Amino acid sequence: MDHLRRIGQLRRRLTKAGLPGLVVTHLPDVRYLCGFTGSSAALAITRRATRLFTDGRYTAQAAEEVQAARVEIVKSSPAVAAVEWLAAQRGMRFAGFDPGRTTVAELARWKAALPARLRRGFFSPLPAPLVEPLRWVKDEDELALMAEAALAGCKLFEHILGFIRPGLREMEVAAELEHRARLLGAEGMSFETIVASGVRSALPHGRATGARLPRRGFVTLDFGVILKGYCSDMSRTVFLGKPRAKERNAYQAVLEAQEAGVAAVSAGASCGEVDEAARSVLRREGLAEAFTHSTGHGVGLEIHEPPRIGAGQTARLLAGMVVTIEPGVYLAGEFGIRIEDMVVVTRTGGRVLTPAPKALIEL
Ligand code: ZN
Ligand code: ZN
Repeated sequence: MDHLRRIGQLRRRLTKAGLPGLVVTHLPDVRYLCGFTGSSAALAITRRATRLFTDGRYTAQAAEEVQAARVEIVKSSPAVAAVEWLAAQRGMRFAGFDPGRTTVAELARWKAALPARLRRGFFSPLPAPLVEPLRWVKDEDELALMAEAALAGCKLFEHILGFIRPGLREMEVAAELEHRARLLGAEGMSFETIVASGVRSALPHGRATGARLPRRGFVTLDFGVILKGYCSDMSRTVFLGKPRAKERNAYQAVLEAQEAGVAAVSAGASCGEVDEAARSVLRREGLAEAFTHSTGHGVGLEIHEPPRIGAGQTARLLAGMVVTIEPGVYLAGEFGIRIEDMVVVTRTGGRVLTPAPKALIEL
């Protein structure tokens, strides 16, 4: 990963924003900028220097992972140390921070650590995040890792098809999936695995429970793995037994909507257009009301990143973004269906990273 290049990009943004310094505490941002993967860290950046602060548990790890910044091991809070260091830099009268990632209590602690003459007005809240937009567009290294994570997800799906049967508890399915994920090299799951069966499939976020898989009905699986920091995310819905016409038709409608969404992905397309491509299919099928969420989201070091692919979103897709396309229909008391792929935005369209089968699978 080219951390120096990323820090250079951030510096240009700092200059543009008229900021002499920035404190970065959001750990995915810290990781993105300098490669440090520990759980306690803050990064201070000026126009000339970059310094990572962490604690004694991470001395060896930081030395190994971080080349793009000087590392300082501290006994107190890394963020407070970062702030103190920034305030001590020559000519530093104010510095930026991300108010969306800083608690009121934290800010009070930072202020208390400043010399009295700087306390008033030193911290300048960023009107919009500065680091995160850099993360939205993935470079080649990141895309390779994300493709690997997505393929691991597909392997898990293939495995779980041979495991699922009526009578199993949803939790057993989740446990099998997660156990396998670790064996495939995953550092963890991107989020709590969703296994929603029978009437529970009508819950868009039905986390695996003790409920038993029915003899007849849909099972929605939505899961992802973290591989070298990058999240995968995919959903497939399968059927246990023989679907009725209504179930089959609803599935076909979701599949068609999903494919229309994927086909609409392209650099320059607005997120609202992509959402509409999927949503209009379900509207035509009389299922508009049953599609209760957005069509997709960005994914990367975090499972949910901008852009949000939702109705009316004017933000435009950029080549190198990775987004999900995941329309669904949810009929309370009956069933639910969701199909989700990860797609890389390219100049001419979209490249699907999750090639697992999407035609309705009857088990
Ligand atoms: Zn998902
Ligand atoms: Zn998703």
